[in-house]
Amino acid sequence: MSSAPILNEPAGEAQHAIVTSARAPLHARIAFVVETARRLHQYGTAAPRLESAVDKLAGRLGLCAQVWSSPTAIIISFAEVGDHRRVAETTQVIRLSPGDIDLRHLVEVNEIADKVIAGELDIGQGSHLLQTLSDRIGRRARAREVLCFGLVSATLAVLMRGAWSDVVAAGCIGLIVGTLADVAARSQRMRLALEALSALIATVLATQISLYITPLTLKVTVLASLIVLFPGMMLTTAVRELSTRHLVSGVARFADAVQTLIKLAFGTLVANELCKLLGLVPPAEVAAKYPHELSGGQRQRVAIARALAVEPKVVLADEPTSMLDVSIRIGILNLMLKLKEERDIAFLYVTHDLASARYIADDILVMYAGQIVESGPVEDVLADPLHPYTRLLLAAVPDPTRGAERIEIRKGQASAAVDPPEGCRFVERCPLAVDVCSRVTPPLVDARRSQAARCHVTAPSPSLPTL
Ligand code: SF4
Repeated sequence: MSSAPILNEPAGEAQHAIVTSARAPLHARIAFVVETARRLHQYGTAAPRLESAVDKLAGRLGLCAQVWSSPTAIIISFAEVGDHRRVAETTQVIRLSPGDIDLRHLVEVNEIADKVIAGELDIGQGSHLLQTLSDRIGRRARAREVLCFGLVSATLAVLMRGAWSDVVAAGCIGLIVGTLADVAARSQRMRLALEALSALIATVLATQISLYITPLTLKVTVLASLIVLFPGMMLTTAVRELSTRHLVSGVARFADAVQTLIKLAFGTLVANELCKLLGLVPPAEVAAKYPHELSGGQRQRVAIARALAVEPKVVLADEPTSMLDVSIRIGILNLMLKLKEERDIAFLYVTHDLASARYIADDILVMYAGQIVESGPVEDVLADPLHPYTRLLLAAVPDPTRGAERIEIRKGQASAAVDPPEGCRFVERCPLAVDVCSRVTPPLVDARRSQAARCHVTAPSPSLPTL
């Protein structure tokens, strides 16, 4: 970067040019110095360097300048060299937005200043060139900048030992981030939201690619695609300013860098939560977690995935949703239904929850004390149950519309499941029990076209006429 001539003492024939520039009107020299300071600030010059450069430039133009710079303002007081009153002729206060490091423009500003000092340009021409600097960025240059975003992102993914898919994804997302940065360069609103929006889009895109196209190492891909927005140079400048005791500038710039990091983190967190809310969590993310880091729904999905690994024809699912809240429960049930349809898998679903049984099952077997007491199509059985135990189960389901119409259970002992005595196992608790129930074990009888029950009263056996 050819910035040295502004900072170094001129020598030789340049002395003549200095004298020439110093003869220009006071207001023109001040305007040139102010515009130079503004440009140096805009293109990311650190406060100590800016103050030194402006001081020396003013001196070569026959001015005595007192300069104070911060990331959001420059204050310069001017007086003519040789004015022994030491009273400022004028003071300029310039409010500015914090500048970004732009080495190309810094070189151009220095070249213009050098030419004015050397007499190759008069001060008016120099001021005009400075004012038109930002207008000289063409479409090709902008396209190259966007391309550089993609290349830098892809390169970083390589350096982070990402897979080829990470490299390609980081490069593509980097191009999108570069396009956003290009838009932000011309829009104040977009500039404020650039980091958060870029982080959000990068995270969502990486997650989508990982879910639907090819698995990615999300941390590598997202970090690589956002690396260009990290305020590394800003932090370096802040440290330099703090170390030279330009405390206001250093602290302000450091705070600006931290704000940028917070915006990036915020965008990433929002995108992650959004994806989790929508159930868009890439398998690689889940696979890297310990069981205690998974939600209840994720654990059940892992259990189902483990069962599916052996490509079963039948899966015994024993209370798979009992520990889940309702919203997650429906997700697991839908997953089982989907697997049933797509993979032709039969689920033997064990539950106490008749509502979920009705939602997922085609046929139902109601069991009591190790015995099937009723069977049939789930809708038929639950709509018009035969066995007293099934009726009690349904009666136990809270239903505010049903009022006081309930079957009362008797307070008897539960039947022993091992070596039970002869007779119906439900007799101690059955509200419909008759004498024979405790002497003869009821068989499972096809009482209706597709519905069977084990009960002497509601499904009597034709083979036991004496009962
Ligand atoms: S067989 Fe008797 S005890 Fe058993 S369920 Fe029927 S009515 Fe009740």
